[in-house]
Amino acid sequence: QTPENVVLHVADVHKHFGGLHALSDIDLQVEEGKTHAIIGPNGAGKSTLLNVIIGRLPPSSGAVVFDGTVLTGKKPHEINQLGVARVFQTPEIFSDLSVLQNVMTPAFARRDGAFKINMFGLVDNENDIRAEAEAILDDVGLVERRESHAGALSRGDKRRLELAMCLIQKPRLLLLDEPTAGMSRHDTNTTIELLKKIKSRGMTKVIIEHDMHVVFSLADKISVLAGGKIIAEGLPNEVRGNPKVQEAYLGG
Ligand code: ADP
Ligand code: MG
Repeated sequence: QTPENVVLHVADVHKHFGGLHALSDIDLQVEEGKTHAIIGPNGAGKSTLLNVIIGRLPPSSGAVVFDGTVLTGKKPHEINQLGVARVFQTPEIFSDLSVLQNVMTPAFARRDGAFKINMFGLVDNENDIRAEAEAILDDVGLVERRESHAGALSRGDKRRLELAMCLIQKPRLLLLDEPTAGMSRHDTNTTIELLKKIKSRGMTKVIIEHDMHVVFSLADKISVLAGGKIIAEGLPNEVRGNPKVQEAYLGG
């Protein structure tokens, strides 16, 4: 019952925490190659929905289907191996490694078997992976800091690094949880420009965002979550003028 161009289908998902209905009857269809934003006020259930998609939380009922495969019941690393990558709200990087080493590491775990071990037990195509990592660092604006300790980066640069670590995995679906949270106005604008640039790569993206303005210029489609329910859905301009959406934000 999932249309052919839909790569991620969240089907009738409910999530309760005791008596609290964090998600009620969520139905979400993300089309291949599109950028789909999920917006909503604090406490709406956005992070809970993301955690259900990536297998960190089991839904109370319903299912998540990715590219014809039921994800529900799978472990986060299995879901990642299927081609779903996530940029965390708090960057998860290796502080003691260099920026470049951080980007090269996920390539070794890639689905396409990105690295090859030679007869000496060494990575045969390490130079190819290094070149690929440097190209991605150039895209995210970190190539000049490739030899820096990752732990020494600013908060905004850590988020850029984490995005680079996701991009080298060549995921089919990239999930971003509030990619500009805690950033200065300047870093927010740089990140929006960066997300526009990677949008043209055709990768399917789901962006969870509290700040409506961040997603208006990026999203092909917006779903608005409030009180654990989807209260509106459509093109950015349709959603922007929707009185129910304005009310959810003003009341929230
Ligand atoms: P958002 O990301 O939109 O701000 P969340 O998904 O974090 O919202 O939270 C939605 C609701 O679920 C909130 O009321 C929150 O307090 C509650 N909640 C989230 N995680 C848990 C949990 N592990 N246990 C109990 N309640 C939770
Ligand atoms: Mg959240």
